Amino acid sequence: MPSDQTPKSAAPRRTTARAASVTTPAPAATVAPASSGLAGNSPWAYAPAPESREIVTIRQRYGLFIDGKERAPSGGEVTITYNPATEEPLAEIAKGTPADADRAIEAADRAYRKVWSKLHPRERAKYLYRISRILQERSREFAVTETMDSGKPIRESRDVDVPLAAAHFWYYAGWADKLEYAVPGRRPEAHGVVGQVIPWNFPLLMLAWKIAPALAAGNTVVLKPASTTPLTALLFADVCRQAELPDGVVNIVTGPGSTGMSIVTDPRVAKVAFTGSTSVGVTIAKGIAGQGKGLTLELGGKAANIVFEDAALDQAVEGVVNGIFFNQGEVCCAGSRLLVQESIAEEFLARLRDRMSMLRIGDPMDKNTDIGAINSKAQMESIGELVASGVAEGAQIWQPACDLPTRGWFFRPTLFTNVAQSHRIAREEIFGPVLATITFRTVAEAIEKANNTAYGLSAGIWTEKGSRILQVASALKAGVVWANTFNRFDPTAPFGGYKESGYGREGGMQGLHAYLRSS
Ligand code: NDP
Repeated sequence: MPSDQTPKSAAPRRTTARAASVTTPAPAATVAPASSGLAGNSPWAYAPAPESREIVTIRQRYGLFIDGKERAPSGGEVTITYNPATEEPLAEIAKGTPADADRAIEAADRAYRKVWSKLHPRERAKYLYRISRILQERSREFAVTETMDSGKPIRESRDVDVPLAAAHFWYYAGWADKLEYAVPGRRPEAHGVVGQVIPWNFPLLMLAWKIAPALAAGNTVVLKPASTTPLTALLFADVCRQAELPDGVVNIVTGPGSTGMSIVTDPRVAKVAFTGSTSVGVTIAKGIAGQGKGLTLELGGKAANIVFEDAALDQAVEGVVNGIFFNQGEVCCAGSRLLVQESIAEEFLARLRDRMSMLRIGDPMDKNTDIGAINSKAQMESIGELVASGVAEGAQIWQPACDLPTRGWFFRPTLFTNVAQSHRIAREEIFGPVLATITFRTVAEAIEKANNTAYGLSAGIWTEKGSRILQVASALKAGVVWANTFNRFDPTAPFGGYKESGYGREGGMQGLHAYLRSS
């Protein structure tokens, strides 16, 4: 679709929560009456503050980015990417095939042997700095594109995703000519061609987490974005051209999971990085077993956000809200299990419900929106199915009486209480704005319950006592533990999990190690 045909009626229309309850299988009695506070229809409601989409030109069709050029897919087929907030098509995207993956790997291999591995590390660093600067210069374009394609609030893509993506390139640019300090006493060497598959929840940021350390370490890349969110990766291809990155150093192949599998299993790909569901992570690990490739897997999570009775309650409420409702809860490290000490549970939950009643759900392009659209219809259905299972298994559901748009995939923020550890909502990754509450009495019980999960990606602790933070953090089986905060990310800090949350680390010096072999 030409840019002048970019959907104009993109601002979602609104209706009441009950009218839209087809998307949320909650009985009407569980929806709270409208609050008299700052929520919904009160005279204190915020006026709309929509971000302009003028800065973005979305083309009718996008090809693959191979060897520095845009190419048509060998099979001639396309898929469509939609705006989840309006359900309107945004663009046609090339459906890359195994033959296209092969071409991309060939280009990456050639670029590695003939150009990238021969450059002085200082020169490689210059490209990374240049990419970081261009991302900053074009940040608004990236933020608007990301929000239109993924459904996340513009406030988050503008203030979190894009600045962090630029920061990752900046940080790893600094490492490019200092690799020997990352592996003291050994000789750092690149793997060669790396294959990377990324998900739809942080499309640009996951691209940055993957590509920045790979290039800094001297590798070349073939990356497959998720089918529902390819646009910022394709815009990034334009950044590579603008930065005059040598042809073939970065290749972007859109297409289905099977094309991702062709990339990661190709014998010329020496190192694989994947972020996504545990089931696909397992399939990839099995698919490349015995090939001697490096592999990092960043998979799902079921994080406990633990609130002790001495915590600063209002701050903890903010942290819990940020932990589960940031990016509609479509976050691998989301604080999806609230563990609250029994002595304060009633008061804490009352404050949490009040705060949830103030959340603004709707048009992701509105700068006041807290919770945007769910990324796809399939994800919407998956959340609905798990929420229905919570009700059926006997947990108590509560949702604020917020307005939802009539079009688009929106899910009301949901709080479950009376949750048993055996319930599916306490065990399975929901990947939506759904919080399961479990109470505890003692520190030991909190630790046991927090660790009672197949996952081990992240956790949060809320207490005024420093000694308790140290005691609990060291007992938690989670890759990242936040204390009196949640969902804080920094390029210098390693991120990754235990158990079914995967292995290997991204970010920091540890994230660089994954892209180096050292002798
Ligand atoms: P997937 O794991 O299927 O998708 C992640 C990426 O893997 C996408 O690029 C996808 O491509 C690709 N892919 C799918 N199948 C294969 C395969 N066999 N070989 C190689 N690549 C493959 O996630 P879903 O979109 O299906 O989401 C399902 C659930 O996974 C969510 O509800 C959530 O619980 C979890 N999830 C966790 C994430 C995390 O950050 N840990 C991120 C996303 C999802 P394509 O898009 O074309 O299918």
